[in-house]
Amino acid sequence: GEALAVSARVAPLGSRLVLLLVEDLTEARRIEAVRRDFVANVSHELKTPVGALSLLSEAVMDASDDPEAVERFAGRMQIEATRLTNLVQELIDLSRVQNDDPLEDAEPVRVDELVAEAIDRCRHQAGAKQITMAAAGHVDLAVWGNRGQLAAALGNLVENAVNYSPARTRVGIAARRVTAPGGDMIEVAVTDQGIGITDKDKERIFERFYRVDPARSRATGGTGLGLAIVKHVAASHGGEVTVWSSEGQGSTFTLRLPEAGAARDRAHQRPDLD
Ligand code: ADP
Repeated sequence: GEALAVSARVAPLGSRLVLLLVEDLTEARRIEAVRRDFVANVSHELKTPVGALSLLSEAVMDASDDPEAVERFAGRMQIEATRLTNLVQELIDLSRVQNDDPLEDAEPVRVDELVAEAIDRCRHQAGAKQITMAAAGHVDLAVWGNRGQLAAALGNLVENAVNYSPARTRVGIAARRVTAPGGDMIEVAVTDQGIGITDKDKERIFERFYRVDPARSRATGGTGLGLAIVKHVAASHGGEVTVWSSEGQGSTFTLRLPEAGAARDRAHQRPDLD
């Protein structure tokens, strides 16, 4: 109604202006809806483990004369507490990458160090599933950015590759330099032989809390925030993240970031250009 009233008043000014105004209102409403959804999602995600903890603590009290039951319930409490901790930590990470300018303390960050850190972070999970992790290609490259954020981004991609793959498969990480008009970029590709992602889901997996299979995500400690964090980190570094996938065959997530030397050259050139 509001949008229509506005468009009726400005109609004589031309249809392009009308279109812009209507688009503006629609965009503002969309942003508001996304914000509301996010708050609702966070509340729901927090409620689930808190509710489970509350029920389990009652169960522990009722079972006080059955040590085996107490142990079982306590074990499940630990799982829920871990889930809650992961969620809160990822919410903090997400808010950091959304609010902090990563380039404020940017530095050259070696890709081989990021790769080693990411592999290290997943070593336990990968070992349990006998998944082989291998770094290939030219990892002796450096990107320009915030070390902590870059480590979180690559770590999330490798963690997902392990989580969404069956046992005894392979996760590969490869890096290469690609020439781009604005300066060289580095591409770090994480390839798995996992369950894959449909074309329809590919469009949505980078949204906060979107999961293809919520039960599977939760079972592996997933929060549904990982790829949203990756996307933010990539964008705020002047890069991007893309996905290629074939259902049942596997996926490749590619993180594209400014090369350290190229980014530094650009920064040095800036005063001259002004
Ligand atoms: P989660 O914590 O659930 O892993 P993410 O934001 O990291 O959240 O990923 C969102 C969803 O995208 C996952 O729940 C999963 O359905 C899908 N996904 C992410 N990475 C992969 C992958 N390598 N292979 C298959 N599906 C994936």
